[in-house]
Amino acid sequence: MDSVATPGRTLALVREKGLVPRKSRGQNFLVDANIVRKIAQAAELGPGDTVVEIGPGLGALTQELAARAGRVIAIEIDRELLATLTETLAGKVNVRLVAGDALKLNFDHLVAESLGIQEGRLPTYKVVANLPYYITTPILLHLLTGEFRIALMVLMVQAEVGYRLLARPGGKEYGALSVAVQYYTEPAIALRVPRTVFYPRPEVDSLVLKLTRRTRPPVAVADEDLFFRLIRAAFNQRRKTILNALGSLEREKADLTRILARAGIDPRRRGETLTLAEFARISQAWQ
Ligand code: SAM
Repeated sequence: MDSVATPGRTLALVREKGLVPRKSRGQNFLVDANIVRKIAQAAELGPGDTVVEIGPGLGALTQELAARAGRVIAIEIDRELLATLTETLAGKVNVRLVAGDALKLNFDHLVAESLGIQEGRLPTYKVVANLPYYITTPILLHLLTGEFRIALMVLMVQAEVGYRLLARPGGKEYGALSVAVQYYTEPAIALRVPRTVFYPRPEVDSLVLKLTRRTRPPVAVADEDLFFRLIRAAFNQRRKTILNALGSLEREKADLTRILARAGIDPRRRGETLTLAEFARISQAWQ
């Protein structure tokens, strides 16, 4: 089928199939072929690549991914859309449509099963998505902490969230999710996307981020669980000093003061001013 990434084709499909784009599922479809091409370009796809797409919708991005990558596995939660997708993707033999909730799926299992290979032999793969915005945080955490063999993620997110993920210490945009993204990946902006290229049109602009998985963490952390517990505690009470914020972790104040001194951190600082390396030093001193 022709590209669905035009306002005319998308509207015609929506009318013909009697679809009602659901806000509750974050359904804002891309209707600009140029943006679709740029997203696919950012993923640097070739015939050797396997791509997992989250939320193919009507297939605008899927069609482009299928033209560039070796294999595409597209996970869609909405069964009505799945019926339409089998038409918009008809003839694309390298696409597998999967009905399901991306938050609940083990991506490595899915890719290994789709490629018919053992999970232990799985090559790295890529994830590309115009994300349904209501799942941005949980899906990012799932993809980052799931220990999947994902080498690169190209993800469209709300602009405001995108800037938060890239934020450096010291400002109010910097938070636990910025630290997680920067710990696991090297994030960069691939593209700024105006709200005008979607149907229906959302209330905010978007950013496409390119998150390249690091082969090695940027700071030495012996216990990642502890590292992220400290970070969550620091940002949960961001107005407090780091000494008081860490008090929620049930350790004596005198103990905490010693730990911070050992880590070389002024106890009066706020968590939002601490770098990844400083959080790592606290977690090392904690043990
Ligand atoms: N990729 C299409 C595009 O760019 O035009 C649609 C993107 S739309 C922003 C998000 C899509 O994700 C919708 O099709 C929606 O039904 C789907 N979706 C929402 N929640 C999902 C979930 N938990 N798992 C998989 N897909 C989901």
